[in-house]
Amino acid sequence: MHLTLDHDFATAVPELALPWRAAEAPDPRLVVLDDDLARDLGLDPEELRSPDGVRLLVGAAVPESAHPVAQGYAGHQFGGFSPRLGDGRALLLGELTTPAGEVRDLHLKGSGRTPFARGGDGLAALGPMLREHLVSAGMHALGVPTTRSLAVVATGRHVQRDAVEPGAVLARVAASHLRVGSFQYARTSDDPTLLRRLADHAIARHHPHLAGTDEPYAGLYGAVVAAQARLVAQWVLLGFVHGVMNTDNMTISGETIDYGPCAFVDAYDPGAVFSSIDTGGRYALGNQPAVAQWNLARFAEALLPLLDDDQDVAIARATELLGTFPGEYVAAWASGMRAKLGLVGPEEGGPTDEETLELAEGWQGVLASGRVDWTSSFRALADAARGNPERLRGMVLDLPELDAWLERWRALGPDPAAMDRVNPVYIPRNHLVEEALAAAREGDLEPTARLLEALAAPYEERPGLERHAAPSPDGLEGYRTFCGT
Ligand code: AMP
Ligand code: MG
Repeated sequence: MHLTLDHDFATAVPELALPWRAAEAPDPRLVVLDDDLARDLGLDPEELRSPDGVRLLVGAAVPESAHPVAQGYAGHQFGGFSPRLGDGRALLLGELTTPAGEVRDLHLKGSGRTPFARGGDGLAALGPMLREHLVSAGMHALGVPTTRSLAVVATGRHVQRDAVEPGAVLARVAASHLRVGSFQYARTSDDPTLLRRLADHAIARHHPHLAGTDEPYAGLYGAVVAAQARLVAQWVLLGFVHGVMNTDNMTISGETIDYGPCAFVDAYDPGAVFSSIDTGGRYALGNQPAVAQWNLARFAEALLPLLDDDQDVAIARATELLGTFPGEYVAAWASGMRAKLGLVGPEEGGPTDEETLELAEGWQGVLASGRVDWTSSFRALADAARGNPERLRGMVLDLPELDAWLERWRALGPDPAAMDRVNPVYIPRNHLVEEALAAAREGDLEPTARLLEALAAPYEERPGLERHAAPSPDGLEGYRTFCGT
């Protein structure tokens, strides 16, 4: 099939772009394709389903215009610096321009060992790739900036994990795969132009209006700080625990990347951790803003030579810009929380950020006693505002505390219809994702299709999908997620 891919990244920073090809896939079979995404990219879903299309999605056929590369990057993993990580099992096929004129990376994950593979086998198992497909589809429908999954293709090859698993390749689409770790990698180079070329490439890609301004690199840094603050606020409002916020998993675009060990909480708990290796709770739900800011400090260190020739001046500028993170975060979080509570902003007579925080803490207190499901509590709250408090009263244990809180909240004039437009009924709940993956491993894709159907319209409650709106019947005690699967 015909597809034109550019290779601007590889041209701009060849030091971070190792030409490479995907491993053989003995028997490629399409498992799932996002038709809407394909069309947005200007691709024909039917062509992608054809043998040629599937060969493209698994890396067996490379368009003539493409120069696939493994991307180099460094990263702080759980606080420790690794100077050379890179795409150990992934390839950037190239950049595609959509009919709307947007540039998107087309990337393969699970496509075989590369020179960055270290001890890894370069492969990915079907379950984890489908997991990324499901959760990223859900996040996109929830309005969270995210890398997308165009398709998952089973390779026909076996992958050794705890057990032998079917292998798969994920075709990932992203605004770019530039990470904080890409800049950390460039910074360690002997060539001082590399960092500048990378930053110029990032600016051309994400913030072209900054090119030629007085402070393009400070502008880039400030934009990433703001984008990450907004992103993490959305995660926290949803109860999303990313699970592995290493600097190689933090994008410059502000899109969520790497769905390995992520999970959603049922009851709201700032200490919630699901990743088997995050024993210290570094990436716990409530720690995510602090960790994002820590990562952005590492980004600043990498960018310093571009911010000013005088290191002290550069540090002062970076510190000032990093200092905007808490304000950006609180503003984004409070505005999101007001929306969840059906309230308008202070400019229209609604609560200030500080009042919102206080109100939300009260709400969290009401929920905490009964370990109430975070996601569905807001739909029940909207029902209560409509005069149907039964569902909410059935969830909460401390009813006098609830009534006191409701009285305060009702006085602010909440709009239940507005609440239902922002509070999802369906999210990629852990147990539903696991159930879909277990069935898919046995060749049954019905639960996957059903979950994708629910997630595609997360705010629209539909009959027949009741199970998909409910928290795990067994609770999340002991639920564990894994990296590098
Ligand atoms: P992640 O935990 O997915 O962010 O990956 C961290 C690093 O490990 C990246 O450099 C990956 O490319 C690499 N990696 C993870 N799994 C594998 C694998 N099975 N084979 C080769 N490299 C891997
Ligand atoms: Mg990663």
